[in-house]
Amino acid sequence: MDLLWHEWDAVVVGAGGAGLYAALELAQSADLRVAVVTKLHPLRSHTGAAQGGLGAALGHAEEDYPEWHMFDTVKGGDYLADQDAVEILCHEAIRVVFELEHMGFPFDRAPDGRIEQRVRAGGHTRNFGERPLARSVYAADRTGQMILHTLYQQCLRRGVRFLEEFLAVDVWVEDGACSGLLAWDIRRGELHALRAKAVLLATGGWGQIYRTTTNAVTLTGDGVALAWRRGLPLEDMEFYQFHPTGIYGRGILLSEASRGEGAYLVNGSGERFMERYAPTLLELAPRDVVSRSIFREIQAGRGGGPHGDCVFLDFRHLPEEVRRTKLPEVSGLVHKYLGLDPGRDLVPVRPTAHYAVGGIPTDVWGRVLADGKAQVVEGLYAAGECACVSVHGANRRGTNSLVDILVFGRRAAQDMIRLVHSRPSPTPPRSPLEGPAEEFLRLADGGGGESHARVRAELQRVMEEHCSVFRNEGGLRSALASLGDLRDRYARVGLVDRGRVYNQELVEAFETGCLLDCAEATVASALHRTESRGAHFREDYPERDDTRWLRHTLVWRSAPGEYRIGDKPVVVTRFAPKERRY
Ligand SMILES: Cc1cc2nc3c(=O)[nH]c(=O)nc-3n(C[C@H](O)[C@H](O)[C@H](O)COP(=O)(O)OP(=O)(O)OC[C@H]3O[C@@H](n4cnc5c(N)ncnc54)[C@H](O)[C@@H]3O)c2cc1C
Repeated sequence: MDLLWHEWDAVVVGAGGAGLYAALELAQSADLRVAVVTKLHPLRSHTGAAQGGLGAALGHAEEDYPEWHMFDTVKGGDYLADQDAVEILCHEAIRVVFELEHMGFPFDRAPDGRIEQRVRAGGHTRNFGERPLARSVYAADRTGQMILHTLYQQCLRRGVRFLEEFLAVDVWVEDGACSGLLAWDIRRGELHALRAKAVLLATGGWGQIYRTTTNAVTLTGDGVALAWRRGLPLEDMEFYQFHPTGIYGRGILLSEASRGEGAYLVNGSGERFMERYAPTLLELAPRDVVSRSIFREIQAGRGGGPHGDCVFLDFRHLPEEVRRTKLPEVSGLVHKYLGLDPGRDLVPVRPTAHYAVGGIPTDVWGRVLADGKAQVVEGLYAAGECACVSVHGANRRGTNSLVDILVFGRRAAQDMIRLVHSRPSPTPPRSPLEGPAEEFLRLADGGGGESHARVRAELQRVMEEHCSVFRNEGGLRSALASLGDLRDRYARVGLVDRGRVYNQELVEAFETGCLLDCAEATVASALHRTESRGAHFREDYPERDDTRWLRHTLVWRSAPGEYRIGDKPVVVTRFAPKERRY
């Protein structure tokens, strides 16, 4: 296949909040040639779906400090977060909010004109756990959408070059350095070779490894898979977070803003069951706690609905004004997908796959770590949901992802600027179409008899059955065996559409391969960690074990179906691990 060559100083892969903030920062350096490669139009990135808000200790609504935010983040992450990175997150969050304000972000305002703050999400507290606190800033329940619009407009203003509907299919990492990437132009059906001194992976999450998920169909972990295929490790992949309130039967998210504004959770008999599991924070306890509580209610036979397999969100006591002005998206989703009116009806919900806590290991400047610990891959960066800095530990706190993508997206760009000014143009691989790119080329040419959609559906079923909120050794082993079979079937995938231009089937077949990588890394890591912590709950090891497991997991694939597992210590600076009680 012919290759079209370009040369850039820096290439950002992904145009969600992390990619756009990085691109904007890079664009401040007028002398740099910067391109953003994105498989979607930037405004369709998943960041746009974030309804809840962005956590920052501004102290507008009530007294608050970055140290309190730090404590909540560390405790919420079940003490697995690296506290040096969390400190950066919580301090820089404040600056990011004011920068967005100066760019024109339409924050909701308090009557005195300052940015309003609310309790929008679980587990943010005053004074190291005393009671829930208003830390979230937001724009109605469309915060993520407003982030994309604000940043995209600023990028256009600064002349950032977008290569839209370009699918990255390989990133060139050889001998500990990155020299660029290979991307498929979906619109024209052409293969592009982008030589670059610095590449940032900002490709988002991989919730599509599960059948019931809040994640868009495009969230297939491409960046993570590309790094793994090039022999880099992945960190803390076992921690996949479930959100407690997905619309029953569909998985679509009903934001924590609902519970933040005062909606409760009730079981089949109308009882507020969170009193049993988290007597202080109730519905505002962290997501892993609430998700497990819901499943326990259902398992104990106290669920509701025709099959007894859901619980309910009750909005009926909230003033109509709150539903209309603070929760317009939530009310709209309930009406559209269930035909219900939250003012009159109970809304059936169930936990749904939501957020990838682990990912590509980086340092606090977004630099990818070849050994997962200290050795930097020259020229390769990762930020946003695909990266693991790690600020979320074993479980992400609500509103902290939007902060993470902005703070670390920008920091990565700051280091990229430094690097491109000192690094000579790297030499691309001698045979850019060999290695991981071969799989994409096989799909583009191939005529096997297997359907990628069937492989994907089976993958999602296996992961949901054996590797969701509750896990055990037998289930995880059976999942690994099934993933091995699916890998064989994937090698035989063929396409019905043999055209080149706008071949969506080719894109989806490629994405299914990335999902297989993400699922394998998740199950292999989950099998290894014989304790329960944060989003990872092992029925056969229900206790947290700090003596053995206060460590990050690293996973490499050594051969098909074989994994090498390593680990590294957690950085503890301020808060020694304690039991988590809510
Ligand atoms: C429904 C929902 C609600 C949420 N609500 C909140 C909230 O209220 N608060 C909060 O803090 N967090 C929330 N989150 C999480 C948060 O929104 C995400 O973690 C965050 O937006 C991810 O941003 P990102 O920039 O890393 O990636 P994304 O916004 O997902 O963007 C990924 C980008 O990568 C590009 N891409 C991917 N693969 C390729 C490829 N192969 N080639 C080229 N481009 C590629 C895509 O085109 C896209 O532009 C929510 C998530 C969901 C799903």
